[in-house]
This record gives sequence, C-alpha cells and structure tokens, in this order.
Amino acid sequence: SWCIRRSQLAKRLNVFITELPDYAQQLAEKSDERIALGKPLGLLDGIPIAVKDNYCTAGIKTSCASSMLENFYSPYNATVVQKVLDAGASVVGKTNMDEFAMGSGSLDSIYGPVRNPWSRVYARKRQMLTAVTSSAGVAIQQAQSGHGVSLSASQRIPDNYDDSYKSFSMEEDDWLIAGGSSGGSAVAVASGSCFGALSSDTGGSTRVPASYCGVVGYKPTYGLVSRHGLIPLVNSLDTPSMFTRCTDDAAAILATISGIDVMDSTTVQDCSVPFSLPDDASIEGLHIGIPEEYHAPGLSEETLDTWTWVADLFERAGAKVTRVSLPHTQYSIVCYSVLCVCEVASNMARYDGIEYGYRSEQALSTHALYADSRHTGFNDVVRGRILAGNYFLLKRNYDAYFVQAQKVRQLITADFRRAFDAGVDVLLTPTTLTVAPPYKEATQHDNRTMSAQEDVFTQPANMAGLPAVSVPVKLSSQSLPIGLQLMANNFEDKLLLTTAKWLE
Ligand code: GLN
Repeated sequence: SWCIRRSQLAKRLNVFITELPDYAQQLAEKSDERIALGKPLGLLDGIPIAVKDNYCTAGIKTSCASSMLENFYSPYNATVVQKVLDAGASVVGKTNMDEFAMGSGSLDSIYGPVRNPWSRVYARKRQMLTAVTSSAGVAIQQAQSGHGVSLSASQRIPDNYDDSYKSFSMEEDDWLIAGGSSGGSAVAVASGSCFGALSSDTGGSTRVPASYCGVVGYKPTYGLVSRHGLIPLVNSLDTPSMFTRCTDDAAAILATISGIDVMDSTTVQDCSVPFSLPDDASIEGLHIGIPEEYHAPGLSEETLDTWTWVADLFERAGAKVTRVSLPHTQYSIVCYSVLCVCEVASNMARYDGIEYGYRSEQALSTHALYADSRHTGFNDVVRGRILAGNYFLLKRNYDAYFVQAQKVRQLITADFRRAFDAGVDVLLTPTTLTVAPPYKEATQHDNRTMSAQEDVFTQPANMAGLPAVSVPVKLSSQSLPIGLQLMANNFEDKLLLTTAKWLE
C-alpha cells in the first residue's frame, strides 16, 4: 500500500514518464535470490532508485521527454543503470525532465511540467510540511537494516499527505516549479518515491532542482562516472549526477557508479572515492572560500541571509572563512550559451528520422524526410539551439564564437585553480538566486532567459569539471527550501561530501 500511495502522489506531481509498478516485487526477488545463493548483499540491495529518462534502459522506454524518442527502446543499459542494478537496486521508473535536458524548470516536456511537492503543502498545510521534511536524512543503510523495501514508520510520509493533495484544485498557476532539467528525479526523492535518483548535470540540472525541492543534489567530478548510455546534451559538460535525502546516500551511490568504463574514454579511476563518510568529521582548519562575484543581481535577501548564516556557522566551528574572487564567473552564462548550442548542433544530427526516433510519413524526398521528422520530433527549444549552434559553427563564425568561448571557459577554470592553489578547500555559494518560483512567474520567461537566471551559480562548476553539491540548509515549516552549493577541487569529492555532511 505504501507503493500505491507513493505512486498516486507521484502521478499528481507528474514525476514519472514510465512507472515500473512491479519494482517492489523485483526487489524482494532479487534480495531473496542473493540470500539463497549465499551472495553478499550489494551496496544498494533493496533500494528503490529512479532514473532520469535520458539514460538508456534496456527494454524500458527512454524518451528524453521528446516526441523524437517517444517510442524509443534502447537495446542496452547505460553503465550507471547497469551498475545500480548489479548492486541490488531496483529501478522504480524513468523520470520526467525538460526535453533533451534543455531547461531549468522541468517545464518543457511533452509529458507536461513536473510539480514541486512544496507547492500546495507550503501554501495550505504548513504543519504537514514539517512532517514530510522530517523524513529527510534517511540513510540507505537504515532502510537496509529494516526489511529491504519497506521504510520504517517514522520515515514514511504521512498517510494523509496524498489526501491533502486531492482536496486542492491543481491549477497550474498555483504550483511552484520543481527546477530542472532533472525535476522528475528530484521530486521522486523529495516526495518519497525512492531513496535515490539518477540525474544529469550539464549546467545545473541537478543542483537547481535539489535546491528547490529540499534534497541533496550532487554532481561528481567530470570523469569519475561514465556517460555511456546517457543521451548527450553537451558532452564536455554532461556529468551523471544524483539526488538523495542525505550525503551518506550520495556517497553510497557514487561508490556504486564511479570508475573506469571502456565505453567512455573520459572516465578515470579514483581510489579516493569513499564508500561511506566519517560521522565525526571536524571542519576545524578547513578553508572555506566565499566568492565575491556570487553576490549577483537578483539574489534574494532570504538566500543571502542563509548564505551568510552558514558561513558564520563554519567560522564558529573553527573553519577559516575568507572572501575569494572568481572574476570570470560573470561570463559563464554567455560562454555556455555558445558552447552548449555548438555541441547540441552536432549531437542532434543523429536524429534524422531514418535510423531511429520519430519518422515523418509526409516526406516526398530524403531531405523533406529529415526536415519533417526533425521539425515535428523536436520542440522549438531544441530546434532553436540546433540553429544557433550551426550558425556559430559556420566557417566564418567559428573563431569568433566557438574558439572564443573555449578560451573564456579556460579563464573560468583558471579562476577556480587560483583559489584552490591559494589554499581554499571548499567554496560556499548559494545554489539559486531565490527559492522555487511559482509556475505562473516562471512561464513568463522563455527557456533561454530562465536558464540564464537559474544557472548563474551552477554553470561555472561544469566549465571546470569540479565536483559540486547542493545541500538543503533551510528546511522548516516557515519557509521554502533553500540549498547552498559547495564546490571543491577536481577529485576532492570525499572532502566535498564530508563537508556537506557536516552541514546537513
Ligand atoms: N539550463 C541549462 C540548459 O538548458 C542546463 C541544463 C542541464 O544542466 N541539463 O542547457
């Protein structure tokens, strides 16, 4: 009955594109099988995991929330999916997202927008909110020490939580957005459908929704986790990422999915990837950097206060907190807007209507077949990016745009390098400018303007390949969730997650 209740709630929040209702059964069977064979339990044994719909899953639809792939069934599993399955987890469903991960709100999906679970609860049921958030911080290990799939009573979302939703008219105007593009995966975790969810992060797609939905959103160092089977947006920035309720769970999932993969030549082996995080880590002497440039226009007072409050908290606990400068941060959005569309133009060329994906039936010639299939199969955001990318890649524009943007990317990376070389261990910033905006407000902006606002603090980490995590630091019945972002040097994922755990 827990599964059914969660499933009803997930439907109302439009979390899943494909739900796999038999997962509880699968979990039980898998665990039984291992026990019967005397095999040790996997790190994720008995753990329900959701998967963003841009990861290939054998025999399960992988749509990228696009008409182009609406009927696409991959013949193989993405490496990360295979790894979580091998570790004993079960996939509860494929989650809703912005089409081809292009967006920051989970609004541009052919399946409709994802709803933030804090929307109605916040407005009308504040006391309920407290009950829901008290389930945050549940470790996978705790679930495993119980009966596999079933959560202990104290960890359950209250029975009447779903009923509180039923009584509301679900007018679109009343919702808060979930953030994106991995909004479905964020809400799957925030609303209790699973313990962890796989997502991707190219410019903030995991950290932004994590901040809006009050969960941990973690993007590992680029190269730690294989992208094989992740349908690409921007190959040089895409990072397989995750949502969890706490940082311990993020460490367990990272340990499961990281490592060299012959199918992704950018992967590396890093022996320092932790299986678990210390419980009593001290931050005494840790050097926390506060980048001045992150005091950006549009930063809400509430977010600024939270940021300052946490910086003070670190200082009082013995950390050294200093201001640092990352002067090229301000160019990140414009740099991304060139690099992203150039890689998109190249990546999307494969969707020609012939090999796979949507094929137009109207076409009278091969060219018309390409054009019709791509026109109908892609939304206007995707088409717009393909056009812009091809423009920047024209011979006459290439140096002025693409090459120039690559140079700016190096400057952004060099800023971080300087800060870390000067002794900074971890950078502390807000994740987003504000709390989750209402749907009504967000839809007044187009996809591009929205990304430019939502991703200001998150994109630089992708440019430099740094590990970054958004941790919910303000979860109370009085306010919407606010996440703060921590960033560390490449391959300092253990330090990053340990610091995040201290903050939790
Ligand atoms: N908002 C950015 C975009 O639309 C980043 C999305 C992402 O991280 N997948 O491209």
